[in-house]
Amino acid sequence: MKSLADPISVLKGVGPKSAVALNKLGLNTVEDLLLAYPFRYDDFAVRNLSEIADQEKVALKGTVASEAVLTHFGRKKSRLNFRLLIEHDVIMVTFFNQPYLAQKVEVGKEMAIYGKWDSKRQRLSGMKILYNAAGSSDIAGVYRSSKDVKQPTIKKLVRQAYDEYKDVLVDVIPEKTRHKFRLLPRETMIHDMHFPKDQKAARLARRSAIFDEFFCFQIKLQFIKKTEHQERGIKIGYDNKLLKKFIAALPFELTSAQKKVVNEICSDMHHNVHMNRLLQGDVGSGKTVVAAIALYAAVTANFQAALMAPTEILAQQHAEKLDQLFSDFDVTVALLTGATAGKVKLRRELLKHLSDGKINIVVGTHALIQNDVVFKNLGLVVTDEQHRFGVNQRQKFKEKGHLPDVLAMTATPIPRTLAITMYGEMDVSTITELPQGRLPIETVWLREKQLGEALAFLKKELSLGSQAYVISPLIEESEMMDLKNAEEIFTKLKKKFEPQYHVGLLHGRMKGSEKNEIMTAFKGKKIDVLVSTTVIEVGVDVPNATMMLILDADRFGLAQLHQLRGRVGRGKKKSYCFLIADPKNDYGVSRMKVMAETNDGFVIAQKDLELRGQGDILGSKQAGAPDFKVGDPVADLRILQSAQQEAAEIINDPKFMYKSENKQLLNYLRYELAKGISFD
Ligand code: ADP
Ligand code: MG
Repeated sequence: MKSLADPISVLKGVGPKSAVALNKLGLNTVEDLLLAYPFRYDDFAVRNLSEIADQEKVALKGTVASEAVLTHFGRKKSRLNFRLLIEHDVIMVTFFNQPYLAQKVEVGKEMAIYGKWDSKRQRLSGMKILYNAAGSSDIAGVYRSSKDVKQPTIKKLVRQAYDEYKDVLVDVIPEKTRHKFRLLPRETMIHDMHFPKDQKAARLARRSAIFDEFFCFQIKLQFIKKTEHQERGIKIGYDNKLLKKFIAALPFELTSAQKKVVNEICSDMHHNVHMNRLLQGDVGSGKTVVAAIALYAAVTANFQAALMAPTEILAQQHAEKLDQLFSDFDVTVALLTGATAGKVKLRRELLKHLSDGKINIVVGTHALIQNDVVFKNLGLVVTDEQHRFGVNQRQKFKEKGHLPDVLAMTATPIPRTLAITMYGEMDVSTITELPQGRLPIETVWLREKQLGEALAFLKKELSLGSQAYVISPLIEESEMMDLKNAEEIFTKLKKKFEPQYHVGLLHGRMKGSEKNEIMTAFKGKKIDVLVSTTVIEVGVDVPNATMMLILDADRFGLAQLHQLRGRVGRGKKKSYCFLIADPKNDYGVSRMKVMAETNDGFVIAQKDLELRGQGDILGSKQAGAPDFKVGDPVADLRILQSAQQEAAEIINDPKFMYKSENKQLLNYLRYELAKGISFD
């Protein structure tokens, strides 16, 4: 039986070689091909001479008014010229390097030609001859193609796929929803996306396709959310008295925003639903201590808990912090990272105590989810600064016989618009304020020639006992270049500041232990100025560091700059961030201005999207956001919201599973879930 999941090689003309080339374009199945919509349409509707602009691509129709003249240059190049009478105007038509067209041009014959209009010369630079047989459409889709798969091939395959599989297409979206939002049936939608009759048909199809795409994504998220809620999670009956004692012993009072999220988290943990919660909060809002409270809650209920961080530096830092916080409490904290792997005996011991339950809390990197890591009774997993703890990773824990509660912490400010698309299946808690007494970080954008001023300022602050970070330019293509850059800057700054002040260097190629040494020295104020690559980007917490200097700042993404800047402004002293950059265009200038104007991560994220939207619509993809083919979560926000609401309503209907109108939707979910979902 035919299925949309059939490999693309079932189509005529697709051999092993072209299958590979098509796969490279992301086209693996017939369905991929049908959903690979054109990214634009060429308009072949014949236009009037009077209404077209210079250099516009248009179709013109007229009568051939002169013999075609073919001129060759060299062996391969040629030019074909003839006149075309359009009502009372005569224009020149020129085709380059298509000598075979000469035989199609006959004086007195009516022709429609598509090309680029040069109004000064009154000339149409021909691209193709249109036959415009009655009934055929005036517009044609243009597809993403490659060197090995050309436009005509894709078009032919799409046509074939549509003709052969149109009967297999089913309406996933229930009819009621389709009526409510005036959406086209799927078959019509796919047809009109590829072969629209005119611009209007293409627009209508696009609107349906956007809804379709958002809806299908949302229905999956909502379904997962619901089933995970229903799965019996564990009840973590923590000891409230002990927890209160722990909170009272903290060196500061929790902000009311922290209290609120602690309550939300504790309530989830206490119930035997499965917690899958995202903890959002801008850099410096104090997420770590919230994590510590949750971890401790699990321990008081005799469960083990894990804290996962994206880097070794961060894992190390968290382990130290927890040791400190738990020094007067009966909690055993261990650190398990890639570095531990080298120390065979230590690791073996660690694993033993994880499986016999002697270790209460383990902090680590991804090393925590390796196969030989076995827990006695894991109750809670907290992840820090990871975009998300993927469904797949959760699956790994399930395979180990646990279904721990999950708390994912992120400072990556996601605009609300994207948050609902990315985290639709999670519950969200947000820390909405910074601890009291923080002075806002002052951000200054300087040109490269002003670097001296910034360094002079740095020196003055160093003399007052502060510390500074200097971030070397980001060179994405090459880690080696990154390193070379950092080393050069290190040498220069050493010359400038030593022996009075100590300068240190930190980069990604160092061994874990070397990194730790440097970080410890910086924390202990043995180093005053730390030159670093972006390895310190997330999470590092040294409150005495009050200056951040970022070189070539315009090479970084705004979210990244905000994260970097978040390394300062963590104590009571006023902090400064210098962005050194000579941006090459207005876009770059606007970006630097945004950074200087606001400290609010959410505002920055929203601006980032807007600016990118202006810069390059196709390139506006936000890192980590799902890859939508037609829909743009920002531009098509209203559709996204409708799709999300509708999906939630359908899924949360208690009779969802039993209504015949949802039959195809259920089939679709089964099919998708069987494929294995990854949102990472
Ligand atoms: P982030 O949310 O960026 O991970 P951290 O958890 O590292 O932030 O906290 C930033 C700093 O603020 C730390 O030095 C932490 O000890 C401190 N902090 C956290 N909560 C409070 C609070 N309620 N009052 C004062 N300082 C706090
Ligand atoms: Mg943090």
